[in-house]
Amino acid sequence: MEEHTQFDPAQQPAATGDMDPEAFRRYGHQVVDWIADYLANVSSYPVLSQTSPGDIRRSLPVQPPVHPEAMEAILTDFDQLLVPGITHWNSPGFMAYFAITGSGPGILGEMLSAALNINAMLWRTSPAATELEQVALDWLRQMLGLPHPLFGVINDTASSGSLYALAAAREAIPDVQIHQLGMSGRAEVPRLRYYASQEAHSSVDKAGIVLGVGQAGLRKIGVDDAFRMDVVQLEHAIQEDIAAGWRPFAVVATVGTTSTTSVDPVPQIAEICERYGLWLHVDGAYGGSAAVDPEMRWVLAGCERADTLIVNPHKWLFTPIDCSVFYTRKPDIVKAAFSLIPEYLRNAESVGDEVPNLMDYGTSLGRRFRSLKLWMIMRYFGQEGLAARIREHVRLGQLLASWIDESPHFERLAPTPFSTVCFRAHPQGIDDEAELAVLNESIMNRINAAGHFFLSHTKLHGKYAIRAAIGNLRTTEQHVRNLWGELKTL
Ligand code: PLP
Repeated sequence: MEEHTQFDPAQQPAATGDMDPEAFRRYGHQVVDWIADYLANVSSYPVLSQTSPGDIRRSLPVQPPVHPEAMEAILTDFDQLLVPGITHWNSPGFMAYFAITGSGPGILGEMLSAALNINAMLWRTSPAATELEQVALDWLRQMLGLPHPLFGVINDTASSGSLYALAAAREAIPDVQIHQLGMSGRAEVPRLRYYASQEAHSSVDKAGIVLGVGQAGLRKIGVDDAFRMDVVQLEHAIQEDIAAGWRPFAVVATVGTTSTTSVDPVPQIAEICERYGLWLHVDGAYGGSAAVDPEMRWVLAGCERADTLIVNPHKWLFTPIDCSVFYTRKPDIVKAAFSLIPEYLRNAESVGDEVPNLMDYGTSLGRRFRSLKLWMIMRYFGQEGLAARIREHVRLGQLLASWIDESPHFERLAPTPFSTVCFRAHPQGIDDEAELAVLNESIMNRINAAGHFFLSHTKLHGKYAIRAAIGNLRTTEQHVRNLWGELKTL
């Protein structure tokens, strides 16, 4: 950003009111120029911020500003003081956790949403936001090959979505009436149990803590060699729990687990849920997006039988964070778990069913206009464009996996159904797990310190595994070749 440290009195804001529209236009252009340059040059920054803890905080004044400051000075500080403390999720070398992209149309959508600054808590507080959310989520449903009807709502995160899904599952237990009566001190409420694989995301555990079911209420089910839930163990656990007096109420299946991106066998899990009357929630936060490619539809097989399903466009559908889609076949039960209308929010539309009030489907009252960016992304890329990008990421992931498989010095530690590769260096003659863990951690740390790539790790069957997650729109085959080149020299 241009450096203007001089304070220009002509730019001093008035004593009251907002920024002058012409000043907004000028700084708006400057900010858009900064964004365009940043996105064009993002690979020139170290991917993982190289600052030390406390550096950024120490560079900022302790005292708040009393007098107005020039926008130039504020933007200069943003560029010079804050950007060094940014880890560049937009970088083509970002391959840690799950790689994401704040795509151009998505960023523009966010800008418009910030400018409108609406709160879509009720239909009437911005009809376009509520109705666009319904239209955009129905488009996404069609792109994913999911059946009609399916009610959708956008939450901030998958963590919120899983919490809401399990709250609905708890509400669906006959004769317990937790919305009305709560759980505490009620001897007649059975001990509640839900199930997820050992590979499920920690947000599934946290939901149980918040819902008063506790960590003891979640029974973790073992996985097969490909890290998928073992359905024989699942059914056995349910039967054992029933015999011991537990009340099973839900199963969480994951399509695209966090460590290895394994896909639980949802059709078989759905069958078990139907047999025992359990709520089926599917966490497709990562893997669900892949189904926009018709060749990858297998990912969501069986999900048409799920009671609730989450898919995060902010993970692998190029949508700026945050945007997590929550689908349900049973909106009435989700509503029964959450709906509560204080007098000041009562309105004519809350009576009928014609339009939903989105505040009824979770704990948040206020909600941002998140559907705008998703709608713009779906229109700008189209299903073909989104599918082509997902396919390319999968191709790059498979390419890296094939080089690892061919190398005598490296090994893959899990199947690669999508574009996330779990692997480790395993030189001949070193077979001690602790020694291999130290070696691989040091390889990963050296890659991350070099600044071109950011990788993360996991543990698989007790083995330290490096993860390379490909999912950024700027990542090309050349970047993947460069990563492999760096790995081989360490
Ligand atoms: N579920 C899965 C499978 C994930 O991998 C993650 C995060 O990586 C989450 C849920 C949590 O996502 P969020 O940050 O949207 O809560």
